[in-house]
Amino acid sequence: LQRLRNGLSRSSRELGDNLAGVFTRTLLTEEIVEELEEVLIRADLGVETAMKVADKLAEGRFSSRTTEEDVRRVVAGEVESVLTPVAKPLELNLAHKPHVILVVGVNGTGKTTTIGKLAAKLTAGGVKVMLAAGDTFRAAAIEQLKIWGERTGAPVISSRLGADAASLAYEAFAQAKQQQADVLIIDTAGRLQNKAELMDELDKIVRVLKKLDPEAPHTILQTVDATTGQNAMNQVEIFRNVAGVNGLVLTKLDGTARGGILVAIAAKHKLPVYFIGVGEQVDDLEPFSASDFARTIAG
Ligand code: GDP
Repeated sequence: LQRLRNGLSRSSRELGDNLAGVFTRTLLTEEIVEELEEVLIRADLGVETAMKVADKLAEGRFSSRTTEEDVRRVVAGEVESVLTPVAKPLELNLAHKPHVILVVGVNGTGKTTTIGKLAAKLTAGGVKVMLAAGDTFRAAAIEQLKIWGERTGAPVISSRLGADAASLAYEAFAQAKQQQADVLIIDTAGRLQNKAELMDELDKIVRVLKKLDPEAPHTILQTVDATTGQNAMNQVEIFRNVAGVNGLVLTKLDGTARGGILVAIAAKHKLPVYFIGVGEQVDDLEPFSASDFARTIAG
């Protein structure tokens, strides 16, 4: 919880300060409720949640004097009710042998880092993990994944730069089956410049995986960089359509004042949020807790 607090400190401090700022006055007037609504929208929580909070506050407006504490409680309650349905643990069906996790997302959002952290978590729990360096376009991505492989002891299947990503994914899946790995995590390229190409490549990867197991990939996980605010929202929209994403990891929630975007994404897309990234180190991946997040963000 302390880590999350530290991580989210900027989001909550900014929102908290702004809430406090509005409350330098006393009575909760219509004007102040509107101002609060704007503060929440500026904090990226989304119009829908902001309006719900404002409605709740307006309901009790003239009955008694509302304190800053009351407002925080209403914000936290509303945020928690949006986040609770999406805060789910990542469940692995180890009967699959391996459970295949395809990791997608725009370059720089934290795919490779998240794969490394996840591999470390699973390995520590006695799960046998293999990694596939499916971002065959960037030498750095392949190298980074190999470093994570060394760190966690997970074998990394890779091929030369520019090789066909789908062939590599197929080969990795075959090897993971042969070696009876529990989980195979596949990295992918995330170039958004050419959406048709990206879609073709991801489609092809999914198709070849299905040749070995019609249910694969069992999880299609998207990493979303929380520091990019509204852009993050658009990225989820795109990858949901292009890749059939069925789970999210929100990264870089440390050091951002835009953690509120998680609320907007949850309200709109209702996709499970399995983990949050709160730093660059191996332990900086945490299961997502709706109540911790809600309390932290409301200050
Ligand atoms: P990829 O291009 O999607 O594979 O992204 P990378 O995994 O290479 O990450 C891009 C940069 O973001 C790297 O410098 C990572 O160390 C950094 N990064 C990833 N996740 C987090 C996080 O949760 N917090 C912080 N502060 N940095 C992160």
